[in-house]
Amino acid sequence: MTSLENPSLQQLVKDARELFVKEFNAQPTVAAFAPGRVNLIGEHTDYNDGFVLPMALPLVTVVVGRPVDGNIASVTTTDPTVDEPRIAQFSVTQENLKPELPKWANYIKGVVALYPTQVQGFEAAYTSSVPVGGGLSSSAAMEVATYTFLEALTNKPNSSSTEKALICQKAEHEFAGMPCGIMDQFISVMGKEGHALLIDCMDNTSKDIPLNDPNLVILITNSNVKHELSGSEYPTRKKQCADAAKLLKKKSLRFATLDDIQTLENLKADPDIIKRARHVISEIKRTQDAAQVLRCKDYRKFGKLMIESHNSLRDDYEVSTPALDKLVEIACEIPGVYGSRMTGGGFGGCTVTLVTKDDVCKVIENVNSKYDKKASFYICVPSNGARWIGCF
Ligand code: ADP
Ligand code: MG
Repeated sequence: MTSLENPSLQQLVKDARELFVKEFNAQPTVAAFAPGRVNLIGEHTDYNDGFVLPMALPLVTVVVGRPVDGNIASVTTTDPTVDEPRIAQFSVTQENLKPELPKWANYIKGVVALYPTQVQGFEAAYTSSVPVGGGLSSSAAMEVATYTFLEALTNKPNSSSTEKALICQKAEHEFAGMPCGIMDQFISVMGKEGHALLIDCMDNTSKDIPLNDPNLVILITNSNVKHELSGSEYPTRKKQCADAAKLLKKKSLRFATLDDIQTLENLKADPDIIKRARHVISEIKRTQDAAQVLRCKDYRKFGKLMIESHNSLRDDYEVSTPALDKLVEIACEIPGVYGSRMTGGGFGGCTVTLVTKDDVCKVIENVNSKYDKKASFYICVPSNGARWIGCF
């Protein structure tokens, strides 16, 4: 069985309204949405001042709500995978806000606490088609949807998309305890239909890169293996990168070139450090090249870079898993596939595949017949970032 979970925005809004009416016995007055994301290329480059190239998904988190008198926020969610109370209440007074249980409400609290102005009390209901904890950034979708909802509530759009994304990132750092890079919130705010976004993590600037060929789709395949970087793997990788940069006397691996691998070898650096550096340095270059070939609509070259990225993550960065390797291998057996790779931090999660629209079903069939676990599929095109949906 193939699960193509892509309910329309209207349906999500309808579901959110129904939940709102049931929970708060009133009608919502404003609504907003923000998308999840997939990273096309540029993995483990963000904390090395490198580039990432994500796109916004048609999978979104919707929030509907209304202002209420006083300073209490009441929030609820439909998300069936959240094993916590579905309703939370908190005082919106910014200086008093701190993370508490339920955990899911902390993503909302963080945004309320860090919003540029004090907001009044509100009631809000959330629905989402972004799989929770699936590596497609339901967390950023929730933060950015909340921020956008607050803009609608105060009838004041934010002057700067960058500021908005950085505040949402800070909310994730401080209220969810997740020291994430800037990618998820940037793309959820700035995503543009028919475009990927090349983000320079050194100076937080970004460029839209067209990806709008009507014959192409992006297939996301969830291995349905837990995506969290197990134990100490993530900090270990980060430290190995910092150590490599230090040995090379560079501020970060962004300033290193592949020639520096020889320097590390001459310095008799730890072989693992050399491998990690080789991945990061080559991946930063691949991501810039990928944006360039995408501009020229050279999908064959783009696909080749995706496969090189996967191999580098598997062999040099050692963050892939047999399940992800297998999914990439199975996808690449189909002639209409340009490229495929693991996406996200690794140790499970999803693969991303660039494939012609006509062949995407063949890829899904091939995975279903050869992958020994049950995968989930999302057929996507680059979609818009967060928006107010309008008032009711
Ligand atoms: P990812 O961002 O890859 O989906 P995270 O672990 O970063 O995974 O974020 C998932 C967490 O975000 C969930 O455990 C939950 O606390 C919160 N979350 C995200 N979306 C929703 C939602 N629609 N309703 C409730 N909680 C949500
Ligand atoms: Mg997340």
